[in-house]
Amino acid sequence: KRRKRLSAKSYVEGVLKGDRVILSQAITLIESSLDLDQNLGDEVMDAILPYTGKSIRIGVTGVPGVGKSTFIEQFGLLLVEKGFKVAVLAVDPSSQSSRGSILGDKTRMEELSMDQRAYIRPSPAGTTLGGVSAKTREAMLLCEAAGFDVILIETVGVGQSEIAVKAMVDFFLLLMLAGAGDELQGIKKGIVEMCDALVVNKADGENIDEAKKAKRVYSNALHLFPMRENGWSPKVLTCSGLKGNGLPEVWEVILQYKSMMLSNGYFEGNRSKQRVSWLNEHAKYLLETAFYKNESVQSVLASSLQEVESGKTSAIKVARALVKLFINQETENEE
Ligand code: GDP
Repeated sequence: KRRKRLSAKSYVEGVLKGDRVILSQAITLIESSLDLDQNLGDEVMDAILPYTGKSIRIGVTGVPGVGKSTFIEQFGLLLVEKGFKVAVLAVDPSSQSSRGSILGDKTRMEELSMDQRAYIRPSPAGTTLGGVSAKTREAMLLCEAAGFDVILIETVGVGQSEIAVKAMVDFFLLLMLAGAGDELQGIKKGIVEMCDALVVNKADGENIDEAKKAKRVYSNALHLFPMRENGWSPKVLTCSGLKGNGLPEVWEVILQYKSMMLSNGYFEGNRSKQRVSWLNEHAKYLLETAFYKNESVQSVLASSLQEVESGKTSAIKVARALVKLFINQETENEE
């Protein structure tokens, strides 16, 4: 597939004008792993950086089937009705292998995707979380430069991707279900501890009473967690992503959070910390990628694998030797 590259200036101007076609092309550019694209992408990112940061970044998680896409679509529609421009992104490292994963399925969020005030971008392809989340962060910044006021970032709700999303948002929302047996429904305690709001979803029809009951249980459980450094105590709400009730209240809580964080300094403080952790994380990711791409590393790794497998050679010793080899090669390349 041949793709036409624009000049850095054209990408930047197009994005700043809010041109959706160019925004999409710019995101494709930063998702590319070709050196040429990356250099151009860096130039574009540098130029748009002063225009970023003005949105509220919201992460949405919950187990598959909890109603994330339905919620995001209705919540997004509510926000565009309020006059906001809404962008929806996703972090799903599995999206390459499992078809029909989050946002990949075109039939989802049909109404929101048709709305000119909304922009929906599926999860970038990738096998490693490090790569996928770096691309999503840059896509988020591009969307902000393009004038989007609210960025919703969906995550699969299994494994590590929540942590990656938490590290790029201002507000983290966990969707839960009532009466599904186990109180925490396979959601790890750590994820509950990370959330700024826990929302019992599908509070409609016969579910309403159960949802209210679950809300009380969760409220009590959250009270057991220590007070947060930023002074916020996570809120527990009920809503129906399908019917729309409870959604305005979710938005109210987010606004309340934002104003509290702005006044106590934690809003910008959190973002500064996030930028530094992106740097460290991405450096690790680049190192790891370069390491496993290195041909000498690959061949030594291949030849020592059996001995390590059988326990004849120390795994630690081989790892040390490989890293030494890698570092030596890289410094040779520089000279
Ligand atoms: P996701 O996997 O978390 O993105 O969940 P989906 O949004 O795809 O929803 C999973 C299923 O739950 C679908 O059949 C939806 O129609 C249904 N669903 C989603 N939200 C609600 C809701 O608020 N109430 C009810 N009753 N069903 C819902």
